[in-house]
Amino acid sequence: MSVMFDRVAFIGMGLIGSSLARVIRRDGLANEISAAARTTETLDTIQRLGLADQVSTDTADVVRGADLVILCTPLSAFGKIAAAIGPHLKDGAIVTDVGSAKACVQREVGPHMPKGVHLVPGHPVAGTEHSGPEHGFAELFLDRWCVLTPAPDTDRDAVAKVRALWEAAGMSVSEMTTSHHDQILAITSHLPHVISYSIVDTAYQLGEDLQDEVFRYSGGGFRDFTRIAASDPIMWRDILIENRDAVLDILSRFDEDLTNLKRAIRRGDGEELERVFTRTRAIRRGIIEAGQEKLEDQKVSTKSSDKG
Ligand code: NAP
Repeated sequence: MSVMFDRVAFIGMGLIGSSLARVIRRDGLANEISAAARTTETLDTIQRLGLADQVSTDTADVVRGADLVILCTPLSAFGKIAAAIGPHLKDGAIVTDVGSAKACVQREVGPHMPKGVHLVPGHPVAGTEHSGPEHGFAELFLDRWCVLTPAPDTDRDAVAKVRALWEAAGMSVSEMTTSHHDQILAITSHLPHVISYSIVDTAYQLGEDLQDEVFRYSGGGFRDFTRIAASDPIMWRDILIENRDAVLDILSRFDEDLTNLKRAIRRGDGEELERVFTRTRAIRRGIIEAGQEKLEDQKVSTKSSDKG
């Protein structure tokens, strides 16, 4: 594949950033990669893995001269980072991100972008419950979807370049408004995480004897929840706070549906239970038919389809 960018700067290079850096390295998509992280430990790892040519804890240093800047930190850091890098971005640079909620990116990053810099927010819907550059892998994005949420007046060439990068990583790319993205992801990703955190915490708070047995006899269902509930606490704190409106909205609907199921169980209403469970089975089949459940997801938890 040919070079797409002269210099790509990563702000934050953990699971997602390092996976994309691996794709860029593998396919020679950039002449140079620079990376910023908070700690020198992470920067040492990035260098040891050969994922960047230049590393620094100073974000301004890293973005100087870059034609593509990718924000790959937890969402709560975006506003501060945007304010720090804004004055050092080169004219015509593209700034994108991988954050799991999108309205907050326009809100917190947008105001710091100088005229002549193009903001193209993005969300590769792919990930695992692991964090850090050592856990990244280039195949993470294969056959998954990436959502771009540019404002309507965004330069189309800039959008096309970001699209081409994710397509090179093996993703299908779609565009939608930030609010639509946040609403959809609240259902498909954020709600399952809230429920998983809640179920596993309920088990944790059981008495010690019961807890031992919960671990010993944990069935596939509970184990699946524990995998999701092992996701990075900082990342998920940020996603749920930044997307709180859509998450609270879907949680209210979930509450109503749960009450309905509770009522059916209490009344011994087998017909209602069967009706609901038959409907939900069809959703599972739909996901498999859409190619979004892969065999390795079931076998290897580190390459799971679970995503932020
Ligand atoms: P990660 O593995 O924890 O990596 C985060 C990176 O950001 C690290 O390099 C960290 O550096 C750096 N960082 C943290 N705070 C910073 C700050 N204030 N300034 C500069 N660098 C900072 O996280 P990740 O899983 O790649 O997630 C990154 C983003 O991707 C999040 O916004 C998340 O919503 C999104 N996302 C995640 C997934 C997923 O499944 N993981 C999927 C899709 C999208 P240090 O190590 O030095 O602290």
